[in-house]
Amino acid sequence: MSDFENYQPETLAVRAGTERSQFHEHSEAMFLTSSFVFDSAEQAAKRFIGEEPGNIYARFTNPTVTMFEQRLAALEGAEQCIATASGMSAILAACMGLLKAGDHVVASQSLFGATVNLFNNILKKFGIETTYVSATDVAQWRAAVCPNTKLFFLETPSNPLTEISDIASISAVAKECGALLAVDNCFCTPILQQPLKLGADIVIHSATKYIDGQGRVLGGAVLGGKKLLEGVYGFLRTAGPTMSAFNAWVFLKGLETLKLRMDAHSANALQLAQWLEQQPNVARVFYPGLPSHPQHALAMTQQKSGGGIVSFEVKGGKDAAWRVIDSTKMVSVTANLGDTRTTITHPASTTHARITPEARAAAGISDGLIRIAVGLEAVVDIQNDLARGLA
Ligand SMILES: *Cc1c(COP(=O)(O)O)cnc(C)c1O
Repeated sequence: MSDFENYQPETLAVRAGTERSQFHEHSEAMFLTSSFVFDSAEQAAKRFIGEEPGNIYARFTNPTVTMFEQRLAALEGAEQCIATASGMSAILAACMGLLKAGDHVVASQSLFGATVNLFNNILKKFGIETTYVSATDVAQWRAAVCPNTKLFFLETPSNPLTEISDIASISAVAKECGALLAVDNCFCTPILQQPLKLGADIVIHSATKYIDGQGRVLGGAVLGGKKLLEGVYGFLRTAGPTMSAFNAWVFLKGLETLKLRMDAHSANALQLAQWLEQQPNVARVFYPGLPSHPQHALAMTQQKSGGGIVSFEVKGGKDAAWRVIDSTKMVSVTANLGDTRTTITHPASTTHARITPEARAAAGISDGLIRIAVGLEAVVDIQNDLARGLA
């Protein structure tokens, strides 16, 4: 990637990682093949024992997947990227590669629901314990460290309240304690935030969200140093939660427009958040790009913009929130985010329904809370769609 070191992100997004076949195609080829042919028995043997680089079998590597990995690595400023079948399999692969029975994880209490289930219900069965701490209170991270703590795990901004974790400060605590810091960079993408540059050791992506950006396919990635990720690649190669070549090709096309889309999502979200703040039936708006956000200053040093996710609390609790959602005619009532199409969800009854009402209240997720992943439609049309239920 040395040729690309001096290029800007928008250039990397369209150019980095491309490798042409003997046909000299301009756009990246989709290599739909499960295995690769060797010239001789000797070459096969050398490839298998790692004496000669090259493709063997698509559970290990595939040229289309490799191009996606190289492009995303260039954008994150990472030595290595390992593509996976989904965002959750990226988190699983990172944990399986980096942790063992008896290890301890300190994690933000504001994590994606399936990530919490993975830590609590799956990794716990294999002897890995997790302690949850505030996303925003660095002292809690330090206080939770045990002699066997190996990993810190966070998302910033968090879902749905857009809390900002201070990556540089938390990474300094991790380093002091001999732990690794992994950041799920799904909401910002490398266009808005580069956690490795702020001291994180590992970046996780659900490519399903903004990297695809058009709601088509599932995928994920683990990024970091080459040496550090050896075990993660070993897990992937053996256990097989590999990204398909087709999905990698879709993500390559998604990356080409990532900068344009993130800028447009952010501009639309800021405008919508400002409008929501002025609506009489909106009690509170959560958006890092607003000066009213308690961590606006930190967000603006850590991220290039507020991003595309806006949450807000309507007056009148669940009934009022459901009325807003059910009165929409355009925005999609769906679970995905990071799509060109605006999506709307009621966290208390969907993504956070499985936790107790007390735990929900403690996490600040009220019954009146609505999360919007702002799409690329005209903001006035999104406003009009919400205004009906807010009236
Ligand atoms: C969606 C999401 C994931 C999981 O990704 P999948 O591709 O759905 O497996 C992980 N983290 C965050 C922050 C997400 O939004």
